[in-house]
Amino acid sequence: MSVALRSTLAVLGFAPALVAAQMPAAGPLKHEAKPTSAAISAQDLMTRLYVFADDSMQGRATATPGHDKGVEYIAAELRKLGLKPMGDNGTYFQTVPLVRRAMDPASTMTVDGQVLAFGTDFLYQAINGGPTKFDNAAVVWGGQLGDTTNILADVSGRFVLLRPSLGAMNQRALMAQLGRYTGAAGIGIVLPFPAIPPAQARAAQVPRVTLPGAPMMPGLPGGIVQLTAGAAVKLLGMPLDSAKFGMAGKAVSGDIRMKDEPAPSRNVIAMLEGRDKALKGQIVSVGGHSDHVGLTPTAVDHDSLKAVNWALNRHAVENGKPAAGPVRDSIVRAVVAGLKSSGRRDSIRNGADDDGSGSMAVLEIAEAFAKAKQKPKRSMLFLWYTGEEVGLLGSRHYTDHPTVPRDSVIANLNIDMLGRGRTDDIKGGGDAYLQLVGSRRLSTQLGDLVEAVNGRRKAKLTFDYTLDADGHPENIYCRSDHYNWARYGIPVTFFTTGLHGDYHQSTDEPQYIDYPHFASVTQFIADVMGELANAKDKPVVDKPKPDPNGTCRQ
Ligand SMILES: [Zn+2]
Repeated sequence: MSVALRSTLAVLGFAPALVAAQMPAAGPLKHEAKPTSAAISAQDLMTRLYVFADDSMQGRATATPGHDKGVEYIAAELRKLGLKPMGDNGTYFQTVPLVRRAMDPASTMTVDGQVLAFGTDFLYQAINGGPTKFDNAAVVWGGQLGDTTNILADVSGRFVLLRPSLGAMNQRALMAQLGRYTGAAGIGIVLPFPAIPPAQARAAQVPRVTLPGAPMMPGLPGGIVQLTAGAAVKLLGMPLDSAKFGMAGKAVSGDIRMKDEPAPSRNVIAMLEGRDKALKGQIVSVGGHSDHVGLTPTAVDHDSLKAVNWALNRHAVENGKPAAGPVRDSIVRAVVAGLKSSGRRDSIRNGADDDGSGSMAVLEIAEAFAKAKQKPKRSMLFLWYTGEEVGLLGSRHYTDHPTVPRDSVIANLNIDMLGRGRTDDIKGGGDAYLQLVGSRRLSTQLGDLVEAVNGRRKAKLTFDYTLDADGHPENIYCRSDHYNWARYGIPVTFFTTGLHGDYHQSTDEPQYIDYPHFASVTQFIADVMGELANAKDKPVVDKPKPDPNGTCRQ
C-alpha cells in the first residue's frame, strides 16, 4: 500500500485490517426451520426467510425454476393456514403471461432505397412495450434530447431524430423527455460511435422478460432507434453539423420486430374473509414481491464482497454520498487486502431483504390473522407479486385483472425490503427506523391512521418520510408495486427499512437481516392492517386520482 493511500484511508477513518471486526456480527449461514406460531416473531421470520432466500431458490429470478419453488413454498404455507385461494381456477396462483423477448436481428430500416441493418447501422431499445413500424415517415431534426428551450410543434406521424442528452439520463427521466414526442411514428437517437461495437450489438439481443401489450406511455413508439452518426446522416440527408432545429430530412421506413417466447410466471393470492356481514365486502390488501434478480454471471468471494459493500456503504452513510473514483478504489483495495476470507465463492443473489423480507412479512401477517380467535370485520387480501424486478409486471397484471372487485379494495399496503435499516445501513437507521412513502398521496386519513397506530405503540417507530418528498429524484412512489394500486385511485402506503450496501448483490443473505427490528416493523404493519380492517369507516380519498395508464409522477 502506498503512503498516499495510507493517508487517504486514515482520513476516511478506516483501519483496513479491522473492517471485518467492525462489521456487525452476522447470523448463521444455515438455520434449521422450526414450526411457526400465530404471533409475529423474529424466530418465525427467521425460519421463513432462511427457507425462502435459501441458495436452492437460485435468486428467484422471474420465470425461473427457483422462483417457482419460492411461490410453491408460499402457497404450501397458505394451504396450511386454510386461507382462501384467490388465484386462477380455485388455486392460490394467478398466471402472468410474461414473455422472454429478444430483438429480431432481421429487423431493418430503409431510407432512399438504402437498407440499414440492425447491429451495424442501428440498435433498438424496446423501452415502451416492443416493436415499432413506420412507413415513409418524414424525418425531422429535433436537436438535443432534454433541451427544453426548443420544442417541436408537431411531430405526429414523423420520425424525430435527436442528439443524445448532455448528462446521463435514467429510464424514468428518459421516458419523461420522450413524452414530448407523443404521436411520433418513430424516435431515433444518434449514437456517439462511427460503428456499433460488437459487444453492444450482442447485448442488445439479450432477451428480457416482459409483459406484452403494455406500453408504459401510450401514443409513443414501442422503443427508441439508436443510430450510428453515418446512418443518421443518411436519414437527414446532410451532415449533422449543418442540421438546424426543426429541419426536415428524408422519408424513412422501418419494421423493428421482436421474437417472443412464452415465460409465464405466477402471482400468489389468498384471502381471509371478514366477519362483519356489512363490511366483509370491503378488502384491505397487503403485498410484497416474490421475485428477485437471480444469479450473477461469475462467482466472487462472498466475504470479500460483503466487507467491501459494508465499507462502501458505511462511507456513503457517513458522508451523505457514495464514494467515487480514487477514494472508492482505495477503500476497495484496502478492505480486500485486510481480509482473511472463508473462501466461499458465491453467485446467488438470494434477495433475503429484497424482497424475501416483504414476502415473509406478508406471510407472517397472514398467519397472525388466520390463527387469531376473532377475525377482522373487513376481508384481507394477501398478495405476492412476480416480475417486480423486471418492471412491476406482476402487480400491474393483477391490478389490471384483479380476482376481487377492484373497487372493493379500500387500501393497499406494500412491503419491499423490511429487514435492514441498521445505523450502518442507512442514515438515521436504528432499531425503530421505518420509511414510509405515499401514505397521504391519495388519502390524508390513511396517512393519519398510520401515524395514529404508531402513536399507540409503547416503543414508537421513527418514521422517515424523506423519500416521499414531491419530485424526489429516487421517485420511489412510482417504483414499487403499490403504484399499480394507486394508479386506480386506491390509497396506498409503502413500508421499507430502506436501501443498503447489499442491495441486488450476492451479499443480500438471511444471515445479515436484523430479525428483532424486522419483527417489530412487521407487527406494526399488521397493526395498521387490523386498524383498517376494523375501523368504522374506510379512508376517504381526498386527492386527485391519477390516470391508470398515464405516467406516474411523484
Ligand atoms: Zn424489491
